[in-house]
Amino acid sequence: MKVLKVDHIGIAVSSIAEVKKLYTDILGLEHAGSETVAEQKVTTAFFPVGESEVELLESTAPDGPIAKFLEAKGQGVQHIAFRVENIEAALEELKAKGVRLIDEKPRKGAGGAKIAFLHPKSTYGVLVELSQRD
Ligand code: ZN
Repeated sequence: MKVLKVDHIGIAVSSIAEVKKLYTDILGLEHAGSETVAEQKVTTAFFPVGESEVELLESTAPDGPIAKFLEAKGQGVQHIAFRVENIEAALEELKAKGVRLIDEKPRKGAGGAKIAFLHPKSTYGVLVELSQRD
């Protein structure tokens, strides 16, 4: 498999409206857009940084994965996403190498990307997302 770059860093926050000011007014980044991914019960906001992006994640429901993360750990880095060339091939290869997968098959992420998560038990505590954009 080929990892092309860090696609984005996912940061769980209680309120995008509040935290957004840090990334725009203080750090001077541009808010490139927001999107709600209903099936993941999350609203995302993207802030490009060079070749990568900061992705703020706000829960849209109390039982969503981001709500659960905030409850357990508070606000902060939630996942790191690597851009790969071919996500299906990458998942097959990782599975063959014994890496535990949360998603055996890619699903739809923000911005029309194909995404899949690896299990943090196999990645030393870091929730890793693979992402492919065509
Ligand atoms: Zn992500």
